[in-house]
Amino acid sequence: MGDDNECVVIDAPHDVDAIVAAVGGRKLLAIVCTHGHDDHVRVAPELSRRTGAPVLLHDDDLPVWRLTHPEVEPDGSLSDGQQLEVAGTTLRVIHTPGHAPGACCLYAPDLGVLFSGDTLFAGGPGATGRSFSDFPAIIESIQRLFATLPAGTVVHTGHGDSTTLAAEQPQLQEWVDRGH
Ligand SMILES: [Zn+2]
Repeated sequence: MGDDNECVVIDAPHDVDAIVAAVGGRKLLAIVCTHGHDDHVRVAPELSRRTGAPVLLHDDDLPVWRLTHPEVEPDGSLSDGQQLEVAGTTLRVIHTPGHAPGACCLYAPDLGVLFSGDTLFAGGPGATGRSFSDFPAIIESIQRLFATLPAGTVVHTGHGDSTTLAAEQPQLQEWVDRGH
């Protein structure tokens, strides 16, 4: 996300040329990783080498990151409540463990937008069947999003359709009962 002058990239999954083209002539301030899974960080180090932008990841996801990148570490950490200034607006880091221990959502209050990574999708929580995942933790994280952010917040998810918090909140109990 960004404007004509500067931007941040949220997750760098596979096609580094496409990301570099999307950044274009703008200054890339940071490569923000919502979590350390391969399909979110695969080309992050290469993008960093090509642009000079730092890779940021929550420390709790370093064990996950190392499964993909055993030889290179992120350049910096993300922490709950941290604010990233980009293009005249603020992205607030919300630590939302569950899908992965260091999973984070990025909330832009001025835009009313949440980038949810793999924590919340249209129709359900992110998967918690992988190693390092934790179902009760993801439910607690999603409850915290519902409790603290405006219901009209638009959610851009890590895979698939966008949604809103208001559209998802009524289904929470079903997800808890279903247990995954
Ligand atoms: Zn994931």
